Amino acid sequence: MKYFSSRGHKEKISFWQAVIQGLAPDGGLYLPEEIPELDFRRYQDADYRTLAFEMLRSFVDPDDEDKMKACIEEGYRDSFSKENLIDIHEEEDFSILELYHGQTAAFKDFALSLLPQFMKRASDENLLILTATSGDTGKAAMEGFKNVPGIDIAVFYPYQGVSEIQHLQMATQEGDNTHTFAIQGNFDDAQRGVKNLFLQEELRERLAKNNCRLSSANSINIGRLLPQSVYYAYGYLQLVKRKKLTYGEPLDIVVPTGNFGDILAGYLAKKMGLPLGDFICASNKNNVLSDFLQKGVYDIHRPFYKTTSPSMDILVSSNVERFLYFLTEDCKKVADFQEQLAEKGVYQLDRETKEKMKDWYGYFAEEAEAKEEIQRIYENYHYLIDPHTAVASVCYEKHKKETGSKRQTLILSTASPYKFPHTVLEALNCEEALKDKEAIEKLHQLTGQEVPSVISSLWTKSQRPDRVIASKEMGKVVEEIGELK
Ligand SMILES: *Cc1c(COP(=O)(O)O)cnc(C)c1O
Repeated sequence: MKYFSSRGHKEKISFWQAVIQGLAPDGGLYLPEEIPELDFRRYQDADYRTLAFEMLRSFVDPDDEDKMKACIEEGYRDSFSKENLIDIHEEEDFSILELYHGQTAAFKDFALSLLPQFMKRASDENLLILTATSGDTGKAAMEGFKNVPGIDIAVFYPYQGVSEIQHLQMATQEGDNTHTFAIQGNFDDAQRGVKNLFLQEELRERLAKNNCRLSSANSINIGRLLPQSVYYAYGYLQLVKRKKLTYGEPLDIVVPTGNFGDILAGYLAKKMGLPLGDFICASNKNNVLSDFLQKGVYDIHRPFYKTTSPSMDILVSSNVERFLYFLTEDCKKVADFQEQLAEKGVYQLDRETKEKMKDWYGYFAEEAEAKEEIQRIYENYHYLIDPHTAVASVCYEKHKKETGSKRQTLILSTASPYKFPHTVLEALNCEEALKDKEAIEKLHQLTGQEVPSVISSLWTKSQRPDRVIASKEMGKVVEEIGELK
């Protein structure tokens, strides 16, 4: 199985090479040449790891299947608190897929537990992973990479620009190969700094002398996309087992969306033969994606809002590029759209392409709607959801209202409510708690819902001191890490 660039670059490479490369030389994203088809009915009794292997093996060459198996065994060995990684909360006509039982209590753990395993087996060079984070991705990446031989990871976050929990999560990080730096500046400064490091030829050369190569773990990596297809299949099969569905019946999917990776992985599962129905893409007030799906116009000319669902505060969702390829199967068209986006900040789909989005819907939730939804769901079902999941739930309600749909629906829950204790408490109309720790305790007292141990244990672990640096010092600290090897 070879991988090619969505923009049509002539070079085709293996899965392992694509994982190390991240981005294709022409700026495109890697895609598999074929989408393997599976008869998912055969895996109704498979546990999560077995299903993951059955799905992911078909994306590598037959000779590499053992390697893939080892990645899954090691990456998913003990990094989730549930035996089968996920849990499902069932209601009458919808279910909630809890994707937050990993090390950082959010769904990125699924991909970031496997990516380091892929990278470790893909390269003989030492790797140094650079990540800018607004709080969550960096921690999830460090958990995945911690103590992986031959790989170091450096995470840059804005000094005093992350929440108390996020800061604690990074300060209590274990692993001699994980390095955290607080940048004097905001997230954009950190991100710009990292981008600059990748462009510095001299730095690369000096690191290369130490057999060290820079790489990244961001969500455009094909090694992050593929593992996310698995929980759609596992979720579907579980619902069949629990007699919520008969096999073959379409299941609609609602996904709180930012960079479009999660929802696209679901679409991939559908293309592999999983009987999924419609895809409902949920946006917050930054509603560029819901507009795109409704109108066929991707237009970033709009204000940027900081919302209470920060992981969805995105205007340029990079994985849309892969979606464009799935719709058009035409690299030239994809390259054209991306060029228009880069130059003018907008592109419009032609009629033929737009018509291919028949099973896609986009809605968005205002801040007040999401907040009310947390309360409504708690009052109606005694079940706590986080602000990202709340956005999805609002959009599900809007979808039912607009289309009259009565289909069984699966809402993806991407983070534990205890990761956002203030927002959730406020939604339930009690907001006196000041510190995150108090807010969590209060929420727990109020609802009795279990606090993930990866969160409650944060306050008892030892902390590393902050290393605060100016963004112009980033090159220097990276080189220091490279020399330690
Ligand atoms: C990253 C993230 C999202 C968005 O997922 P994408 O794959 O970027 O669309 C939604 N919710 C949470 C909690 C996240 O961390």
